[in-house]
Amino acid sequence: MKKKLLCFILLPLGLLAGFLLPAFMPFSGTAPGSGNGFSTWSTSENSREAETVRTDAVSGSLEGGPSEESKEEREVEKPAIPAERPLEEIPFDGQLAHQYLTELCAMGPRPSGSEGMKKQQEYLIRHFTQCGAEVQKQAFRFPYPGSPTQKVDGLNLIFRWRPERKERILFCAHYDTLPIPTADPIHMQNLPFVGAEDNAGGIGILMVLAKELPEILAEEQTRYGVDIVMLDAEEFMFRPSRQLLPNERFCWGSEYFGRVYASQSPAKRGFTYTAGVLLDLVTQHDVLLMKEAFSFKNQRIRMIQSEIWNTAKQLGVREFVPQIGTFITDDHLYLYEFGKIPVVDIIDLDYEFWHTHEDTPDKCSPLSAARVGWVVSEWLRNKK
Ligand SMILES: [Zn+2]
Repeated sequence: MKKKLLCFILLPLGLLAGFLLPAFMPFSGTAPGSGNGFSTWSTSENSREAETVRTDAVSGSLEGGPSEESKEEREVEKPAIPAERPLEEIPFDGQLAHQYLTELCAMGPRPSGSEGMKKQQEYLIRHFTQCGAEVQKQAFRFPYPGSPTQKVDGLNLIFRWRPERKERILFCAHYDTLPIPTADPIHMQNLPFVGAEDNAGGIGILMVLAKELPEILAEEQTRYGVDIVMLDAEEFMFRPSRQLLPNERFCWGSEYFGRVYASQSPAKRGFTYTAGVLLDLVTQHDVLLMKEAFSFKNQRIRMIQSEIWNTAKQLGVREFVPQIGTFITDDHLYLYEFGKIPVVDIIDLDYEFWHTHEDTPDKCSPLSAARVGWVVSEWLRNKK
């Protein structure tokens, strides 16, 4: 958590001094696990990362960085970054997103195939249908960890607006919760894991976005259609990452979704995903969103990433930090690997309560939800 404290101490100082851009990069090389400019998380407990990235080398090329121009020249050339807005002035309903998050958590644990998951599916289908979506259910089965024969039922939910449109934007988030809090000490792993930040927060934002879609996608506004997809089986796992059994892994739902998408030609399918956005761990207090490294490394995804981080900059949302973070194994990898769907991952894995029973609604913030929702909604509105 030190990283965040440092940032918030330095940001106001930077603003006071008038050095707006350098204030965006107060902690070059402080990606989790780094210190020498390299991030190596692949052997850590939280090992959702598989590769090493040279953070300082790439971040130097972003957004210009500190330059040798005089202060006056910078002021002329670069538009001022707006001040951060308080919750009530952000035109995206973060309070409502937080309320949805709270309602989801009140259903209890919601791992794949569980009763809680079924309740959640009914709730989400009701909500998104009321927002004008056409619903598709994509059922699949995946292996129970460690079992050669036993299977678990998974279900991706696909909600579509303007289904006739051939160019489509994908918004997705996993909606299953970890079956047990694997990051807690063993004697506490019988406590319920309700996944407020992981990932009711992402779902809550998409539920609010859905209410705006009929207006955003009006005839004269855009040529795009939108699909919001709830991905199942992102984390049907019972052990920490270092002790996984055969077939105990992340992202079965996104792999299946990608495979189905790629199994048909664009002509037969009738549409193509031009761009996608994945929300995962985005509503915690003091959220900080660095550019996830796989999304940056992939040229198609990097373009989407730049658009979104530039949107944040224009809106004055400083929680989107224009610096490269770590590689994170998440649904976007599988969507690209199996479906070649370019999806940017918006994620802050530096979360104190990650995979513990303490991942509860009080750890999440309506303001963070408002900021992230505002940025992605504004990006969609301006998508060329
Ligand atoms: Zn998780």
